[in-house]
Amino acid sequence: MAEAFIALGGNVGDVRANFERAMALLREDGAVLLVGRSSDYRTPPWGITDQPAFINAVIAVSTSLAPHALLARMQAAERALGRDRAQERQWGPRPIDLDLLAYDDVALHDPDLTLPHPHLFERAFVLVPLAEIAADRVIAGTRVGDALARVDAGDIEKLPLR
Ligand code: ATP
Ligand code: CA
Ligand code: CA
Repeated sequence: MAEAFIALGGNVGDVRANFERAMALLREDGAVLLVGRSSDYRTPPWGITDQPAFINAVIAVSTSLAPHALLARMQAAERALGRDRAQERQWGPRPIDLDLLAYDDVALHDPDLTLPHPHLFERAFVLVPLAEIAADRVIAGTRVGDALARVDAGDIEKLPLR
């Protein structure tokens, strides 16, 4: 079994309900086990700023799936939750986005899969929830908690459980 970290995000519809449904879809047959889950956070939009705030979270999973198979399952879950890439702008509004942040210590530069995720260390909306569940994890030589200390996380708000 490998250990992977998956970022969840969205800003259309009931995003927190979409997170629950996405996790259920990922876990469906036991090939993906949930081993950690951050709080949900309200975060300012990144890239395109004139859109509603996002909600972001990070989960840790234990999985028997290889990296591409895990990504395929994540993308199937996105589609099942109504995401249609043909209808959206890069970094624009979407009901759910699932990004594979890290998979064990695998480094990959395939056309469809880069590991670790290329924007991981510049995104407070990823580092805040990731550090909540894995501050001491080292990814590509950098401790997650140290990476968080280098970004501005001032606008990120932890949401109460609901
Ligand atoms: P960003 O990748 O900057 O967060 P995004 O999530 O909005 O942007 P998407 O449209 O969801 O981008 O995905 C674009 C492509 O990124 C996907 O088709 C997928 O093949 C590719 N990709 C490469 N590496 C990863 C990764 N680590 N996790 C998820 N998708 C990835
Ligand atoms: Ca993304
Ligand atoms: Ca994505």
